[in-house]
Amino acid sequence: MTISGNFLEIELGKETVEIKSWEELFEEHLGRKKSVRELIGGFGRGLNYFALLQNTYDDFSKLFAICTGFLTGHPHFGLPMTCCKATMIFLSPMKRKGRRHGISFANAGANFGNEVKKMGVDDILIFGKAKQPVAVLLDGTGKGVEMELREFDPDALVFDTLESIANEYNYATACAVGPAAFKGVKFASAHFSTPLPGKKFGLPRAAARGGIGLVLSAKNIKAIGVKGIDEKFPKPRLGEEEKRIVKEINRGLAGAATEKYRCGGTWGGNFDFLLPAKALPAYNHSKLLGEEAEEVYGLWRMKCEEKGLKVEDEECSPCPIKCVKRVKGSDGTIWRLDYEPVALMGCDTGVFDVDVVLKAFWLANAYGLDAVSTGSAIAWYFEYNLRMGKSPTFGDTHALLDLIKKIAVREGIGDVLAEGVKGASEKLGDEDIAMQVKGLETAGYPAWSNPGYAFAVRGMCHTSMETYNVAIGRPDKVHEIEWWISTLKKGASDAMLVQSGGFCHFARKVILPALPTLLDMYTGVKTDEDEIERSGLQTYLLSRAIDTVAGFDRTDDTLPERAFRCGTTREWMERLKDRFYEEMDFDSKGRATKETLIKYGLSEFAYLLRI
Ligand code: SF4
Repeated sequence: MTISGNFLEIELGKETVEIKSWEELFEEHLGRKKSVRELIGGFGRGLNYFALLQNTYDDFSKLFAICTGFLTGHPHFGLPMTCCKATMIFLSPMKRKGRRHGISFANAGANFGNEVKKMGVDDILIFGKAKQPVAVLLDGTGKGVEMELREFDPDALVFDTLESIANEYNYATACAVGPAAFKGVKFASAHFSTPLPGKKFGLPRAAARGGIGLVLSAKNIKAIGVKGIDEKFPKPRLGEEEKRIVKEINRGLAGAATEKYRCGGTWGGNFDFLLPAKALPAYNHSKLLGEEAEEVYGLWRMKCEEKGLKVEDEECSPCPIKCVKRVKGSDGTIWRLDYEPVALMGCDTGVFDVDVVLKAFWLANAYGLDAVSTGSAIAWYFEYNLRMGKSPTFGDTHALLDLIKKIAVREGIGDVLAEGVKGASEKLGDEDIAMQVKGLETAGYPAWSNPGYAFAVRGMCHTSMETYNVAIGRPDKVHEIEWWISTLKKGASDAMLVQSGGFCHFARKVILPALPTLLDMYTGVKTDEDEIERSGLQTYLLSRAIDTVAGFDRTDDTLPERAFRCGTTREWMERLKDRFYEEMDFDSKGRATKETLIKYGLSEFAYLLRI
């Protein structure tokens, strides 16, 4: 088994910590043994805690859950490489319906999930609020888990916070939020230290989306340090055949299926894919650029390297994909460049200068801002100004850097933009150019190519509905409703499995097909592909059921105006909704029903959620 069956329950107000059994908790409330979905873990299991223990949707600060997957862990415990993920689950400050909030998640890489499991638990649930901003230090190196709360400066930058936690408190593995979270920025993010072999630290990784940083700051959490020991990790006993399978999977992870991310990184790989298809969004998604657009050369990795830019690979230890690309800017800034921040902070703001975008991404991380939402908010503001005949507007490099700081401290126009594109456009107008769904700003892919955004759990995010890019290069399919129905069902299930099992999104082509084998090897539970896909759909449906209780419905399954400019129409979208709801057994208003839950083996939640 690679799971312990335990979770850590923290009550910050009472300063208590206790190890409990999630298997017993679920059995007591659900009256049955654990399911495949719960065994896979992550987002799928985490939703149970919200269905059982979160009795209000008005208050996003009540519960914060950190859930590992059955594959989360280090290869020296016998797991495949690239399985370092844990999922953070919370009600999103950005996903609002009146006073209520919908469910969301953010995925944490680096070593955090592995260290959680080394404390002898699979999940951590954090209730309540500390008396002042604190670092929550969890020491699982002894018999149980000890907790210490240390007062911490809420205004400390992310990097300084992680450094103090590592050097002063001796917690090499930690997550931290920046000053933006404590200033109340809606899209504040969380960041994770990256211990590498030889006591080196890599560049911190972010779990950025959905307002995770604001949720942590609402609990007065500035940082969480975790420390465990190898002996407590629930190590699997593998025979020769199982070891061979792991080797085979590791070979696959270093092979053709991951080449795009291994060679170009997300930055190079996606530019090389989108530009020939004339599908690189720019200028607040008002244009789609192709190879002939010369301005793009300033950000195209290939062209930047031709001009002498040095790019180095960095991995989450140990991962053969090494998708993180470390760059040194001409002012000496060393940071990484990933596709989404380059697309949103660069192309979408009309700033095609790799040095400025590198600095912008570094600043967003230092202050603890979701770089994607930040870029999108600034891009929206630039276009709003362009329409009004005001400045600053697209291409203003100074304004880009200045606005990031203003958003982080909520100063001047930064105070408005800190509400996100939805909040800012509701206040100032021009909602038609607000690139958001359910309050979450767009990812860096053409909106026309992915109607799946409307149905995705966390909004306009490509990783919560694996349907992005499928229509690029398939213009014949874009209008086919039945093609979308099967694509959406598969996309929803795959995305939920990726957010649950503990493996990296970029390893999905290798790990997803192997899940039945891996589940058998590591948990002893026999399944097949159909059951795995069904458990992914269960996760999707359970999140939809929680959102139904929070008040979300058909009127929230929308797309921004710009998604309809390439042929599809709002009328077409309504037909797609009708068919998708019919397929999923939702009612005509897009709400999960008792029948939906019964059909997919979730009947106990119909009672619990009073659906
Ligand atoms: S593919 Fe990239 S993000 Fe995923 S584990 Fe490897 S280095 Fe980390």
